[in-house]
Amino acid sequence: MAGEWTIRELAREAGVSRKSVWAWIDAQGWERPEWGPWILDDKRARLVLERFEQTAPLRTPRERMPCSVEGCERTSAGLQDVCQMHYKRRMRTGRTERSSGGDWQTAKTHCPAGHEYTPENIYRFPSDAGTRRRCRMCRIAQSSTPKKQAAGG
Ligand SMILES: [Zn+2]
Ligand SMILES: [Zn+2]
Repeated sequence: MAGEWTIRELAREAGVSRKSVWAWIDAQGWERPEWGPWILDDKRARLVLERFEQTAPLRTPRERMPCSVEGCERTSAGLQDVCQMHYKRRMRTGRTERSSGGDWQTAKTHCPAGHEYTPENIYRFPSDAGTRRRCRMCRIAQSSTPKKQAAGG
């Protein structure tokens, strides 16, 4: 709600700890509420934010635009309107679509084995950086397949 800032919100907005926000506010001699948490109006909230603007860790220096290709979850590379992968593909083929035929349409919604990509079925590895979908059903199918025993001796 406009005009009502709690310490927690201010700390999060300023990117500093609640403790440091509280300490600074307390040092201003502003009248404290008799009970309950500090609620600051916009004017004071701005003072707090201005105060901590200097010390707050730098945010993302420049906003990265998402890749303009539909369905692509990467961010654009440099000043391009598309991600690195699509940029390279466009350089190579003149288009951003996969050049291997019509499969790419299906690949958006289904895994190579034909399982549907639903939120429940998709999982990602941390190393995938959120860009690559993996099919849980395929993984389950693989792990439940009895492994051929390389029996020695
Ligand atoms: Zn892309
Ligand atoms: Zn699958």
